[in-house]
Amino acid sequence: NSDLVIKDLHVNVEDKEILKGLNLTVKAGAIHAIMGPNGSGKSTLAYTLMGHPGYTVTGGEVWYKDQNILELDADERAKLGAFLAFQYPVAIPGVTVANFLRSAINAHRAEEGKDPKSTAIPVAQFRKELREKMATLEIDESFVRRYLNEGFSGGEKKRIEILQMAMLKPTMAIMDETDSGLDIDALRIVSQGVNTLYGQQPEMGVLVITHYQRLLNYIKPHFVSVLMNGRVVREGGPELALELEEKGYDFIREEVGSQQ
Ligand code: ADP
Ligand code: MG
Ligand code: MG
Repeated sequence: NSDLVIKDLHVNVEDKEILKGLNLTVKAGAIHAIMGPNGSGKSTLAYTLMGHPGYTVTGGEVWYKDQNILELDADERAKLGAFLAFQYPVAIPGVTVANFLRSAINAHRAEEGKDPKSTAIPVAQFRKELREKMATLEIDESFVRRYLNEGFSGGEKKRIEILQMAMLKPTMAIMDETDSGLDIDALRIVSQGVNTLYGQQPEMGVLVITHYQRLLNYIKPHFVSVLMNGRVVREGGPELALELEEKGYDFIREEVGSQQ
């Protein structure tokens, strides 16, 4: 089963409970948006899914491809096909974007007990795929020859992420629109990239995490869930995002409050 199924997830950050029994299913082949006010736990969810050590799971399960991925380390999750798009690599002196991407792919292809050289992607094949993906994503050739520590802009970092995603071909892509906010160019790049990849690989699941409705003008979700105070409090279709845009989060806050 290639749905991502989150059951009663509880997560602490520095001994404070942030996720308080979160339930969510991201279906394979669907684009699913999570929206929520600042501080509701959106990034905590993203970091927890990627296995960040600062986030302590105190309860619950996250099932993907018949495994509770909370029991797997970050590499193993990636090998199952889960991809966190906000993992911008730390600047490594002398490493080009192309070399970085090739190492990322080879890390994916590595198998325990086998010589890494035997599982590595052949260089010619890598170049061919890279050229193809760059063409679809309209990324200039010179870009991948630049060094990772060259001082990329926010939009360029997003481009690297999207290219990385295109090359790794995840079956479940998880994107967190960071609170720093994407500028309009970066937003366009990310959305076009996601839409292109989704178009080529319609069985891919996509979880888009965002505070703002505006991202969803570019990436059209099939499902929308609202996160508030560490729990999913409302689920619906794309019309829910529009309703939030119009009314803000307060109307849901009031509804949730009156049920308690
Ligand atoms: P969102 O992404 O929805 O804005 P976050 O997941 O970033 O929400 O944060 C949820 C809550 O957890 C906030 O109250 C925030 O202050 C707290 N929090 C998140 N990360 C940390 C951290 N590293 N240390 C302390 N508190 C944190
Ligand atoms: Mg619970
Ligand atoms: Mg956040």
